[in-house]
Amino acid sequence: MGNLGSVKRLGKNLGGYYGEAIDIRHVLRDIESAASAHGWTSEIFHTDRDFNWVALHRESRTEINRQRIYISAGIHGDEPAGPLASLRLLQENRWPANAEIFLLPCLNPLGFVLNQRGNAQGIDLNRDYRNPKTAETARHIAWLERQPQFDLYLCLHEDWESHGFYLYEQNPDLQPSLAEKMIAAVAPVCPVDMSENIEDRPAQGGIIRPIISPQERPDWPEALYHITHKSRQGYTLEAPSDFPLPVRVDALVAGVNAAVNALSTNGSQSSSSS
Ligand SMILES: [Zn+2]
Repeated sequence: MGNLGSVKRLGKNLGGYYGEAIDIRHVLRDIESAASAHGWTSEIFHTDRDFNWVALHRESRTEINRQRIYISAGIHGDEPAGPLASLRLLQENRWPANAEIFLLPCLNPLGFVLNQRGNAQGIDLNRDYRNPKTAETARHIAWLERQPQFDLYLCLHEDWESHGFYLYEQNPDLQPSLAEKMIAAVAPVCPVDMSENIEDRPAQGGIIRPIISPQERPDWPEALYHITHKSRQGYTLEAPSDFPLPVRVDALVAGVNAAVNALSTNGSQSSSSS
């Protein structure tokens, strides 16, 4: 926390992401072995070339006030912090007993091979969730349709243009917000983007609460699929990719841990009334 003042933008991402890439095969191997070491189950829902798309699952340790939490990463192949954060979360394996976790650590491995945002055909998978044209998204949705409803979704991303970490909140039923707790947890490890306008939307303290009309948008991101079909509360976390990669991984890990812990505690406070 003390040396955060020395964390500066690198200034090398001009017009796109030109930071470090990852060996996605290596990262996915490490992810699979960390998951299996901690007793997670792994389901392959799509295969292309020599890559498997995996969904990892951890049962809750108790049925009391169980919270089902969905986490995805790596839908954009030039955003390495998400899969690396997934790996760290699995290795640390610190989850509340009442948390049931569904973790999809990499939704676009072929994009990572090319270090590009889209898939091998250059299609942005995160605009393909309304009427999917890609096999990756169609198979992902087919997997989602077999799952229960989630209490929370978290989508891990990076933004090469941003001045710090920020997040999008979707919370149409006005459940207790987790946004401020996530920002507070990230701030000691990564600068937060305090701009009043981020990605052409009003923002406050690193939080964007977009007014959304899914039916008016032809090109749904994954988050819109969730809010429409699977989960009534969720966050898209955006780490600033013009900062060093370890800082971005720390930021995503801190944000996820804060959200998971806050939800698990919130739920226990309100469960007496249900
Ligand atoms: Zn992204």
